[in-house]
Amino acid sequence: MFDKEYDVIVVGGGHAGAEATAAAANMGSKTLLITMNLQTIGQMSCNPAMGGIAKGQIVREIDALGGYSGIVTDKSAIQFKMLNKSKGPAMWSPRAQNDRMRFAEEWRLALENTPNADFYQEMVSGLLVEGDKVVGVRTSLGIDVRAKAVVLTNGTFLNGLIHIGEKQFGGGRAGEKAATGITEQLVDFGFESGRMKTGTPPRVDGRSLDYSKMILQPGDNNPEKFSYLETPKLKEQRDCHMTHTSQLVHDLLREGFDRSPMFNGRIKSIGPRYCPSIEDKINRFADKSSHQIFVEPEGWHTVEVYVNGFSTSLPEDVQYKALKSVVGFENVKFFRPGYAIEYDYFPPTQLKHTLETKLVNNLYFAGQINGTTGYEEAASQGLMAGINAHLKINEKEPFMLKRDEAYIGVLIDDLITKGTEEPYRMFTSRAEYRTLLRQDNADLRLTPKGYELGLAKEERLRRMEEKEKNSDKFVAFFKNTSFTPEEINPILEEVSSSPVKQSDKMFKVFSRPNVTMDHMLRLDAVSNFVAEHNLDTEVLEQAEVQVKYSGYIAKEKNNADKLLRLENIKIPEDFDYRKLKSLSYEAREKLEAIRPVTISQASRISGVSPSDISVLLVFLGR
Ligand code: FAD
Repeated sequence: MFDKEYDVIVVGGGHAGAEATAAAANMGSKTLLITMNLQTIGQMSCNPAMGGIAKGQIVREIDALGGYSGIVTDKSAIQFKMLNKSKGPAMWSPRAQNDRMRFAEEWRLALENTPNADFYQEMVSGLLVEGDKVVGVRTSLGIDVRAKAVVLTNGTFLNGLIHIGEKQFGGGRAGEKAATGITEQLVDFGFESGRMKTGTPPRVDGRSLDYSKMILQPGDNNPEKFSYLETPKLKEQRDCHMTHTSQLVHDLLREGFDRSPMFNGRIKSIGPRYCPSIEDKINRFADKSSHQIFVEPEGWHTVEVYVNGFSTSLPEDVQYKALKSVVGFENVKFFRPGYAIEYDYFPPTQLKHTLETKLVNNLYFAGQINGTTGYEEAASQGLMAGINAHLKINEKEPFMLKRDEAYIGVLIDDLITKGTEEPYRMFTSRAEYRTLLRQDNADLRLTPKGYELGLAKEERLRRMEEKEKNSDKFVAFFKNTSFTPEEINPILEEVSSSPVKQSDKMFKVFSRPNVTMDHMLRLDAVSNFVAEHNLDTEVLEQAEVQVKYSGYIAKEKNNADKLLRLENIKIPEDFDYRKLKSLSYEAREKLEAIRPVTISQASRISGVSPSDISVLLVFLGR
């Protein structure tokens, strides 16, 4: 059936697997995606939304490199919001609500239109390994398929166990079976595995809800989008709504605690700290009498609604009774109950920066299998694994992103250097250079790299260069053009900024707090320049950030450059830490296990102190 050897096999068609397939195939590898159900490629297991704080920046980065997540999101969006718009641009985070069914369909169509990508529906039950190298996979029907590299993206499916109250059954997601065989084989090879858990809320019939009792949550007035390419902008949007729980709801939920797998010891693994179940919230924050619930449509036409904030694994009768007491949900009809799922993951310190495993050559892990949570985190790892699998089998230099270059770089470095014992999600606070890693400049940071890899196409690079040229031109205009006090003082008065007495360069006054591009556009010279050069919103936004935050940006860049010096001090691959007795015992153990590539990476390992770094530097002759 499979008489040829593939370059790359990707196991699993979730967010990581879909991006891995697209990347490897677009770079020229003959790629086979084997997934348990071809109908669920790019399936959103939980909330029908992409992006959000720090996650939105990741989607922009994937897009800038030439991945598909941004395009798929734009084509299936039903609402768009730029979060944190009142804060500095480092915090602006795009988020879209999506039509769940269209999202999966757009992914499938995008992959079907990708040359070099083949598809096969089945469960992979094991790996073919010769010596210390993977050479293919074996399916549950006993079919062997050979490949030069394999990317595992099994998500929540490895020995998945679903919990609803006292009931538990095997499954990778509601209605889909668990994947077996792979964990056991990898453990035999010497891999360490662990268990994590996550959960999802009930889905309900929107026709049974009373929206007049809830608070309207509309999308942005001028919705943006994710992709830097020409994807559709929303002309119409669907509204979300907000309601809240009450003491009565909490009391009803508490009645089910003795039957909760979370509290009766059935679920032992750790769940996502920042996405807790409702029972976890009322238990941990017992003094709070109310929690917010966001009521999110599942698509353009379906009546199904996602009850965001009400994730639960309590018995279904308890879920139903409690939800009926939520304002607006008095007549609620259930489509599906909420549930929790436990699954196997592999501590990511067993990986290199390329996401290749240290134990088995040409084997890559990406997504939830590495202990992360979230579509965006998974997709970005898939992209990087797909790229690196292609590069490795073509004997090319690996592709890695540094912490000052991308959130993707922060994510992977955190995973492989620090590991994670609870589901890892991205936050802006995890990035030390967040002023550099903005959603508005992901193309400027990454598209040239994507193009060099052969992943981002000519059109993408051309658009990015055009944007860069135009925003530089616009910034130069502000530096070189003057205003008169008569022109600018009414604006300054409006924003309570002190008036000016004489003409000065626009750059100076634009740098003041509270003076925005919208204010500047009220000056004839500025609006004429915009019209004359046909500048779009992306250019306006970019120029505004460059003017207002140039000081902060330069400072962060300087700090990043300083750290680069440590990044350039390489540690030999076979370095024997055990013979360095002046290292602390903990540092020796951690360094031996993680085997950092540079002094900078070593310094980020928890348990390795500055004095341990000094010892290493002295030994390496620095
Ligand atoms: P998945 O999207 O899980 O995809 C894995 C794919 O691999 C599936 O298509 C599966 O069929 C296939 N597969 C698995 N094993 C095999 C095999 N052996 N052979 C062939 N195919 C295989 N994230 C959040 O950020 N917040 C949340 O609140 C949240 N809640 C969640 C609740 C539930 C119940 C679930 C299931 C997930 C939740 N997630 C949540 C996680 C989110 O869905 C994942 O982070 C994301 O989907 C991971 O992407 P992935 O590509 O790694 O895996």
